[in-house]
Amino acid sequence: MTAKSAAAATRATVYGYPRQGRDRELKKAVEGYWKGRVTAESLHRTARELRRANWRQLTEAGIHEVPTGDFSYYDHVLDTSVMVGAVPARHRAALDADALDGYFAMARGTQDAAPLEMTKWFDTNYHYLVPELGPDTVFTADSGKQVAELSEALALGHTPRPVLVGPVTYLLLAKPAPGVDPGFAPLTLLDRLLPVYAEVLADLRAAGAAWVQLDEPALVQDRTRAELAAAARAYRDLGALTDRPKLLVASYFDRLGEALPVLAQAPVDGLALDFTGAAAANLDGLAAVGGLPGKRLVAGVVDGRNVWIDDLGRSLSTLGTLLGLAGQVDVAASCSLLHVPLDTAPEHDIDPQILRWLAFARQKAIEVATLARGLAQGPDTIAADLAANRADLASRAASPITRDPAVRARTAAVTPADSRRRAPYKQRARAQRAHLDLPPLPTTTIGSFPQTAGLRAARADLRAGRVDTAAYEERIRTEIRDVIGFQEKTGLDVLVHGEPERNDMVQYFAEQLTGYLATRHGWVQSYGTRYVRPPVLAGDVSRPGPMTVRWTSYAASLTDRPVKGILTGPVTMLAWSFVRDDQPRAETARQVALALRDEVRDLEAAGTSVIQVDEPALRETLPLRSADRPAYLAWATEAFRLTTGGVRDTTQIHTHMCYAEFGDIVRAIDDLDADVVSLEAARSHMQVARELAAHGYPREAGPGVYDIHSPRVPSAGEAAALLREGLAAIPAARLWVNPDCGLKTRGWPETRASLENLVAAARTVRKEL
Ligand code: GLN
Ligand code: ZN
Repeated sequence: MTAKSAAAATRATVYGYPRQGRDRELKKAVEGYWKGRVTAESLHRTARELRRANWRQLTEAGIHEVPTGDFSYYDHVLDTSVMVGAVPARHRAALDADALDGYFAMARGTQDAAPLEMTKWFDTNYHYLVPELGPDTVFTADSGKQVAELSEALALGHTPRPVLVGPVTYLLLAKPAPGVDPGFAPLTLLDRLLPVYAEVLADLRAAGAAWVQLDEPALVQDRTRAELAAAARAYRDLGALTDRPKLLVASYFDRLGEALPVLAQAPVDGLALDFTGAAAANLDGLAAVGGLPGKRLVAGVVDGRNVWIDDLGRSLSTLGTLLGLAGQVDVAASCSLLHVPLDTAPEHDIDPQILRWLAFARQKAIEVATLARGLAQGPDTIAADLAANRADLASRAASPITRDPAVRARTAAVTPADSRRRAPYKQRARAQRAHLDLPPLPTTTIGSFPQTAGLRAARADLRAGRVDTAAYEERIRTEIRDVIGFQEKTGLDVLVHGEPERNDMVQYFAEQLTGYLATRHGWVQSYGTRYVRPPVLAGDVSRPGPMTVRWTSYAASLTDRPVKGILTGPVTMLAWSFVRDDQPRAETARQVALALRDEVRDLEAAGTSVIQVDEPALRETLPLRSADRPAYLAWATEAFRLTTGGVRDTTQIHTHMCYAEFGDIVRAIDDLDADVVSLEAARSHMQVARELAAHGYPREAGPGVYDIHSPRVPSAGEAAALLREGLAAIPAARLWVNPDCGLKTRGWPETRASLENLVAAARTVRKEL
């Protein structure tokens, strides 16, 4: 290898590691602390042990430089707010009284101080706490946590690299504090923030850090010239500091695009770039700026967000290309390994053959180390690893699990007509009106009713064999009877069965579809102490039999009113799973859509005239770069239409979305060609209704009038006021009345009262029409 000498110093590293521990010890310790069952001292001890175990695991895998400061009791963006002293006034006293309790108060709120708002970290399912800033914000440096974790790692003999959220990303993720002009741009605080970063960097250097990583994922999004200029200024100033460690500016989740020349020219010592998926464009970008001569390039070649083994041969060749483009090339995963589960080893229920296709955080660290070795010492030194990897990739490619001829034949035979309803919307709407005979401003709910402790216990009993299927199903039937009875009595117009049989809206379907795998320990942090276990979409998808017809039909048999069938849509079935990386998402979505299409058809055949296909994740997986959005929305909306396109004109298709602002996807919502859309709106005072109207949205819509994220019961007057706001944007003939989202996280008392008020509000406003 010609560049062998240049690569002699190649190191293996990662940017972050799962925090929870093998048995989610962190969750247990933190929740125990909240309940007063675990002391602060014992919580700190657990955390120290977890960090020590992680560093040891990474070092044993062959990682040379380990991350520090990536650990968190709740969220690393919240940690950053504490580090720079950006503490909302309402939490100041609590933080001054006790650092740990004040920290959790910011995360979770207290009786009299609301928590920071939570939102999704880029296009992942991790949620961070949004910094609240204003023109009066005064930043002060608190490097305590970073220095302590660095010192721990040094004392254990590791080579640590502290990881911080970079100042530009931190400000771009922030929002104006309550009471501050909503037009305030936190980025204008940059000059005030940089001295605080300078202080933290000096402290870290004094504590022994050779390198510090500053994460700037916000620079992989479309940025204005002013924002790029701010990034240039930030790294010019930080680079010019004399008392500082070497600086590695890290980007991930996509390509840097126009931010790449900005960072390449900055006086920093290294850049970390993602080379997976759409971010592979960084390769051309890097060549276009003439590489990073004399600097360190950390190459994220192992996908840090998905669970599949790497194609080591391909990564090694990418790394080989990069060798000529930088002073030093190191190897990493594309992003923090926070977004994948910890370890495949305890997955005893997965067929060992299939398990060989999977790599969680621990396996990815080994892949990174193997690649670093191959790059530094030549591919011959990792010949055995390469051969084993090729064999595993080949077994995956040839497996009947990943290639089901019947599924392939069916997706290949899809025609454009399959994703088109028979009649245009207007004509269907007339047919549905005649068929369903609903009052104006019809009332309905989004699907789930309270998932009570009793219901969850019944499911646990069934799993543990304490009750048999017959007893469990009787419990579900009882629940459905209660839910139907309540809705009839309350006077709702379109009923639901309540989803009592569903553990989770994706998992329930994943368990019944061929092609999905479940893990036992594959936990991934969603926020704070909340972890999810996403299913793995491993193979071709098909539906062995009906999934929801039985319970929907049972509910329908109990009432004369229409009962709405509820399914999870294809885009969401992908978004909340780990998806295949061996074929385009569009192809996988099409397979899922065809399986769901059969379910829709079966529901219709069983007499269901209203079918809701939930797509809460449509907005969430919107690509970070606007240039990539049209292609995504094209396949995503097509998958939805393929799911729903086969029904009669009289069958009313609903969809539901939440967890997002919808302004930038109203057009896509229209392209779904659903008859009715229900959307989260209560907190934003029906903003979405005005957005739909501005777009000229021609269909029926139900902007939510009941915020289900809070136990608060909206009064009938309040719901009526929201309805009138909705009516100002959407005509009565097309307006539905419903909550923001499903009721599964709510208790019965507030659900009962809120829905009674919702129906009362609809009745009041109907009289005003
Ligand atoms: N039908 C689901 C429910 O009611 C929808 C959940 C969601 O949008 N997240 O729970
Ligand atoms: Zn929802």
